[in-house]
Amino acid sequence: MPSRFPRTSSLLAAACAALLLAACGKQAAPAQEAGAATPQADAAAGAVNLYTTREPGLIQPLLDAFTRDTGITVSTVLLKDGLMERLKAEGERSAADVLMTVDTGNLLDVVEAGHTQAVDSDVLESAIPAHLRGADGHWFALSLRDRVLYAHRDLALESFAYEDLADPKWKGRVCIRSGQHPYNTSLFAAMIAHNGEEATETWLRGVKANLARKAAGGDRDVARDILAGICDIGLANAYYVGRMKNAEPGSEQHQWGEAIKVIRPVFADGGGTHVNISGAAIARHAPNRDNAVRLLEYLVSDEAQSLYARANYEYPVKAGVELDPVVASFGELRVDPLPLTEVVRHRRQASELVDKVGFDN
Ligand code: FE
Repeated sequence: MPSRFPRTSSLLAAACAALLLAACGKQAAPAQEAGAATPQADAAAGAVNLYTTREPGLIQPLLDAFTRDTGITVSTVLLKDGLMERLKAEGERSAADVLMTVDTGNLLDVVEAGHTQAVDSDVLESAIPAHLRGADGHWFALSLRDRVLYAHRDLALESFAYEDLADPKWKGRVCIRSGQHPYNTSLFAAMIAHNGEEATETWLRGVKANLARKAAGGDRDVARDILAGICDIGLANAYYVGRMKNAEPGSEQHQWGEAIKVIRPVFADGGGTHVNISGAAIARHAPNRDNAVRLLEYLVSDEAQSLYARANYEYPVKAGVELDPVVASFGELRVDPLPLTEVVRHRRQASELVDKVGFDN
């Protein structure tokens, strides 16, 4: 029955994109990627506009399934950088319905700038644990990116606390990327929330003293350098291991992935494993609000959760969902129970500590 709507609106969108870009006014987006449909500001019954900082290719199969189920077409605008600027420039004329980002800090920046609105949804609240969404319904985690220990596969090591990384027994054996990278400042902020600023400073100095090389490069370089014998352990995101182990056998990436094993560290005070998120919110001026809520609710369904997380080897936010086999091989993820809003509050302190101890020097 609803098939007329998507057809009509996608035809309109295509016509708009191909012929009438200038006449489409604010939707003639400079940042819009080729191939993305033009967002529709009209509250046509069958449309929803998604502004995302993630590669839409990763989630396109999910969006297609949503359209098949509901008849609602999803127009995607990719904004790798500049989501905030775009929302600010568009103001209340914005076509944005759903805002999707990676990194807790990025998502909460958008919330704090007033670009979101509250959603009251039993479906979202029952699927997403309370510490992984805004208490006010302004944002929701959709997948988890756990920051784990990469260890040489032959190392006799079963469990690990983040605090252990400063243990002098690891002197000259640790690899990690820049302390100022958001993946690390997010973890260090969580450390401050758990152990306080002073203890975190001492810890950072200890980790710095253990480094086998300058804190630089990317997360996969930790595995590369473990294979090369430069270091034995390091912190990095778990999903890269999914990418490496699933790379072409014989390729460099595959060899890096095979050189390591993953241990999920916890905070020593009884905390769990630190996670960052990918997440979403409803835009403040969403012209298609009801459809936007339906899209978010769809993204926490069992099927969508599994596919959404597996698209990038992330971990589902909803319990009991089928995992990617490589991710499943890491064992159960015990997510740190500290609310992410509390962690994010210490971001700036964490960044200042990194400079103070000369972590990257
Ligand atoms: Fe990454």
